[in-house]
Amino acid sequence: MRIVQKYGGTSVGSIEKIKNIADHIIKMKNEHNEIVVVVSAMGKMTDELIRKAKQITNNPNRRELDMLLSTGEQQTIALLTIALNHKGQPAISLTGSQAGIVTTGTHTKSKIKNINKERIEAHLKEGKIVIVAGFQGINENGDITTLGRGGSDTSAVALAAALNATCEIYTDVDGIYSVDPREYKEAKKLEEISYEEMMEMSNLGAGVMEVRAVELGKKYNIPIYVGKSLCQNNGTYIVEREQVMEQKLITGLSINENALMVNLLNLENEPKKIAYIFSVLGANDVNVDMISQSMSNGNKIDISFTCPLTEEDLLDKAIVLIKEHHPNIQISKKSDIIKVSVVGVGMISHSGVAAKIFDIFAENNISFYQITTSEISISFTIDKENKSKAVENIAKAFNL
Ligand code: ADP
Ligand code: ASP
Ligand code: MG
Repeated sequence: MRIVQKYGGTSVGSIEKIKNIADHIIKMKNEHNEIVVVVSAMGKMTDELIRKAKQITNNPNRRELDMLLSTGEQQTIALLTIALNHKGQPAISLTGSQAGIVTTGTHTKSKIKNINKERIEAHLKEGKIVIVAGFQGINENGDITTLGRGGSDTSAVALAAALNATCEIYTDVDGIYSVDPREYKEAKKLEEISYEEMMEMSNLGAGVMEVRAVELGKKYNIPIYVGKSLCQNNGTYIVEREQVMEQKLITGLSINENALMVNLLNLENEPKKIAYIFSVLGANDVNVDMISQSMSNGNKIDISFTCPLTEEDLLDKAIVLIKEHHPNIQISKKSDIIKVSVVGVGMISHSGVAAKIFDIFAENNISFYQITTSEISISFTIDKENKSKAVENIAKAFNL
């Protein structure tokens, strides 16, 4: 069997852990498998590297940031390969570029365009374990690129698709839970989850899988196993919806803390003016998420929207431009909010989920600001201080 295994940052967070993983991989190899391993940077290395760059400037050149961040994964591939070789196991480490991972798009959020797999295939043929740096590739200019935070998941699924292999993602939890187990201790582990639901959960804040990795899994029909490092079985399979045995109305709840609410007060109800405001936000790369509007007095309206808290610097730039054109608009920001979402394909054919959540909020005195819905999810922004109350009550009500 041909297997692509991915080990995340916590799983390779120390030399001891790297040695243990080396033992585990050798065992898998001895069971007559061909193994490609994708690894992340050790522990919080990527955060540390970003912090270093930001000590110089808040806005580092993105090509150089990619150059810097890619070094994290490069350390892990070398260390793991040294460990394997030391134990007598033939293995070779490859950077994204050496592994033939070609990307397109802008630095720090590039996309995999194709994988030239010849070199990996040749090393597998030689009987070697191939250790590939996750999260990185090379673009058409020959520059090192990265795939966005959490991108090693995407490297692994893309390699599994290219190499016609099964895909196993090893992390610090023993599978995908209905709710982030760090946030809700009684969350239930799922045996299976559909690609659609996992994509929605990831998109709405469940950091356990990178959304593009799941998208690729769906596109190439690669079942993705998510489990705890060094444990076999008992994890979660991400598969086609038809293969999920237990169909529930709501499968999971996601929490997104990376949210900032912006209130625009006292706007004249003029579509052109409103269009102008949102075009400035767009031109400044502010990712506007949820939008709500209410009448204030006469022909004045208030508009609120949310965007990622991590884009506050881009937002501030846009606000300066908006105020230059419309000095009378009052703009305020609120950062002590979070977005809570419930996800489930059952919502396509069943109604009443929103009503039930409104009831829960009423009973528990939780106010909400914005609501958005998709075919398979409903999201609410609420005050951060109500997080655990909201999560626990919604989870209980939907048996999550
Ligand atoms: P890795 O470094 O292995 O990629 P991540 O930190 O990216 O690991 O993802 C694992 C973390 O995702 C877990 O520690 C867990 O707290 C969090 N998480 C968020 N939502 C979920 C969920 N629904 N099920 C399991 N884990 C989740
Ligand atoms: N090391 C990168 C990050 O921390 C990629 C990954 O872990 O998947 O985002
Ligand atoms: Mg991750």
